[in-house]
Amino acid sequence: MSGLTSMGMGELAAAIKAKKTSASEVVDAHLSRIAEKDASIGAFLSRDDDRARADAKEVDARLARGEDPGALAGVPIAIKDVIHVKGLATTCGSKILNRFATPYDATVIRRLRNAGAIVLGKLNMDEFAMGSSNENSAFGPVRNPWDLTRVPGGSSGGSAAAVSARFAAMALGSDTGGSIRQPAAFCGVVGLKPTYGRVSRYGLVAFASSLDQIGPLTRSCADAALSLSVIAGQDVHDATSSPRVVEDYGAALGESARGLRIGVPRDFLKGVDAGVMAEFDKSIAALQADGAAIVDIALPNAPHAIATYYLVATAEASSNLARFDGVRYGLRTESAASKSSLKDMYGETRDAGFGPEVKRRIILGTFVLSSGYYDAYYLRAQKVRTLIRRDFETAFASCDVIATPTTPSPAFKLGEKTANPLEMYLADVFTVPANLAGVPGLSVPCGFSNGLPVGLQFVGPMFQEATLLRAGHALERLMGAAAAQPPV
Ligand code: GLN
Repeated sequence: MSGLTSMGMGELAAAIKAKKTSASEVVDAHLSRIAEKDASIGAFLSRDDDRARADAKEVDARLARGEDPGALAGVPIAIKDVIHVKGLATTCGSKILNRFATPYDATVIRRLRNAGAIVLGKLNMDEFAMGSSNENSAFGPVRNPWDLTRVPGGSSGGSAAAVSARFAAMALGSDTGGSIRQPAAFCGVVGLKPTYGRVSRYGLVAFASSLDQIGPLTRSCADAALSLSVIAGQDVHDATSSPRVVEDYGAALGESARGLRIGVPRDFLKGVDAGVMAEFDKSIAALQADGAAIVDIALPNAPHAIATYYLVATAEASSNLARFDGVRYGLRTESAASKSSLKDMYGETRDAGFGPEVKRRIILGTFVLSSGYYDAYYLRAQKVRTLIRRDFETAFASCDVIATPTTPSPAFKLGEKTANPLEMYLADVFTVPANLAGVPGLSVPCGFSNGLPVGLQFVGPMFQEATLLRAGHALERLMGAAAAQPPV
């Protein structure tokens, strides 16, 4: 069967179950594509092809016995290297974890495996998920499949590139301030950050615990819906996971945007790249023609979100990363390095410390929490965080979802912003507010500017993922950008 690497998740599982193809054939097709193309992109950090092939055989054997392996039977997926997959290294894009052996499967991995999904490997990322371009990885950058001279976005850059390049039907990412949605926009794929608490964080290495969420990157909203239905739900291992019943998100997709009230915060969108704005405006007009009502809304405190985020996120990171203390992790001895299998994979590991961005965040976070500065910075940031959350509550009184561009510009060139961290931080101006408020956000491809993908973001009230996916599904149909395949 040709085109196996371009098929959607539901379509693949159905074809495998109907024996039109097999899980083994599907996995082999993806592994060959990775072997052929990933050298130029750099999405994967580690793989276990033998395990993937064995898991696929098991799915086929279960089907042959007349069993149902699950909703994702034989669907190949790949995982951001900040989520535990037993049997594979967890690097978090850092050399400090060079001797860490992953002790267990994260809850999301257990759920995906129980549904029949096949894990192909672990994906490159900014070190400890800190970054917007994947250039902070200790293992080198990832390249954007639409233009190899450009970044894929970050910090889930490997996840976005892998799904865009057809290496996997779905990839998991993590989103603390935009790390699923921003790379999804840059690579022309769908990215969903669920409501805080919708998906268990057990087995996700923490960056900023009050902001982090795991979510899927896919090539359609239907696939995002299917993925969320599998990974969402309460977990005894994560006290912040919600007991709320998991919906059938696929059933809620619907046919059109008719009757949907879409809020647009025009004042917040000043300074957006003209090419991005043109695609955004076309999309809003198309949704309106499809029957949506476009509502003017305001998010008066949203312009303070980046500053607020870099106080809250760095404070939490400085606390979370204190465990990487050079005693249990980050051994710097010659013998540690020479015993490391990562040394063979990635070369010299003798300097096994943090990279510069992680150090910058820890120093900043320690500062804002320190006596004498706590009230002026950390406490004030928490107050502004509350104001940002209230802005959303007020806005959602008059609309069902809020639409903005996902990013102020399309993918930038490798190296273009590395010398200027503040400019890099602005890439998340539209994504960060949702994390601060805990609400869900979805980025959907809506068009192209100079050949580069443009993403539109929908943000919704707490636990209204179904509404976001319905809006995204309508946009996909109207703009047709989601199906586009990059030239790799
Ligand atoms: N780019 C933002 C940062 O560097 C967000 C990262 C994330 O969502 N993990 O912190």
